[in-house]
Amino acid sequence: MGYSHLASSIAESPTLRLNEEAQLLLERGEPVIHLGVGEPKNKAPISAILSSAAKLSTGDVKYSPTDGIPSLKKAIIRYTEESYDKLVEPENVIVSSGAKQSIFNLLYALLNPLDEVIILAPYWVSYPEMVRMVNGVPVVVTPEDGGLHPRMEDIEEAVSASTKAIIVNSPNNPSGLVFSDSFVKEIVQFCESKKIYLIMDDIYHKLVFDNRKAAPCYKFTHENIEDSRLVVVNGVSKLYGMTGFRIGWAIAPRKLIEVMTNIQAQTTSCASVILQVAAEGALTGPQSIVENLRMTIENNRNVMMQELKSIDAVKVDEPDGTFYCFPDFSAYIKDSVQLSELLLRKARVVTVPGKEFGMEGRLRLSYAGSVKDITEGVARIRWTLDPNSPNEIYIGDRKMVRDWL
Ligand code: PMP
Repeated sequence: MGYSHLASSIAESPTLRLNEEAQLLLERGEPVIHLGVGEPKNKAPISAILSSAAKLSTGDVKYSPTDGIPSLKKAIIRYTEESYDKLVEPENVIVSSGAKQSIFNLLYALLNPLDEVIILAPYWVSYPEMVRMVNGVPVVVTPEDGGLHPRMEDIEEAVSASTKAIIVNSPNNPSGLVFSDSFVKEIVQFCESKKIYLIMDDIYHKLVFDNRKAAPCYKFTHENIEDSRLVVVNGVSKLYGMTGFRIGWAIAPRKLIEVMTNIQAQTTSCASVILQVAAEGALTGPQSIVENLRMTIENNRNVMMQELKSIDAVKVDEPDGTFYCFPDFSAYIKDSVQLSELLLRKARVVTVPGKEFGMEGRLRLSYAGSVKDITEGVARIRWTLDPNSPNEIYIGDRKMVRDWL
């Protein structure tokens, strides 16, 4: 049809596609359980709603400065100081329409054609596609020991003269693992010594369980922010469950922020001022919502782990954070796309195939929903796969008989 080869080769977002598919089934009245979602059920913080409503009611809704309104940047600076013990300047901050846009602008700003970006499997689905969209080459590094935690030796082996950046996402989507402090320290110092950009996607860094903490990467750098190649990405989507507000940000050396700002200026101009004001309201309002959300999700994680134990041959690493776990179903079916389709078709459970995150034999299951969804969803998965489970089950008010095992 004459579309660009590059654009035509970009994969559809599997998680957004699954959301749409599940929505269509729900609209048809099907009893779908969604274990694919990456957003909690909570309402937005009242402080976010009130401040955006107040701004909206003035009717004075115009372009904002491209890199974000000063008062939101101030709130982000305070957040960065509290969370990372790092004081940055307004010139080190850019606000975007979601962390996703910050990461895209960042890759656009950094990469020349064929520059390589190291991505650690299992990875968030968008990284490889974004790297390819800016004519870069994603280099996927999978832990040689078959585990989910990245290993420095595998990363060092993958680094070449063309390596421009490494993306680290801890707590990790999809595994839920929080990478060890020693790993974060090593990778920060390795990137410093090799002059490679280190992109820390910290979007889940407050969503951590069992009294653990995600390592604050700035603690390990010896460099001044202006000389450093460390970039930290964050946002309100996961922190406050404000996914629909589409506000994220990046902290980086001011020269890099300037280039990212030019990219943003020529594409979206700025994030919506109403939504920036909402993010500011959330960041400056009562923070108990973050802890309440964290506790709810930790409880959901516990329920998910308990339920998964009842499926004999499933292996799962207990997540330390996020809304996700990444169990290994390969004892039942190795092809994760086939497995995910079987679960949707037979049991009306939405899951995301491990293949999308660069690892086969696994599914990403979300525990962001209700406890009822988790228990019922896992019960249906058990019924679909485990010959030791009863042969018949009710899905909604429909009696289903398993005839495929
Ligand atoms: N990074 C990771 C690892 C994510 O899981 C997500 C959202 N699914 C994002 C970034 C994007 O967040 P935002 O909604 O702020 O664009």
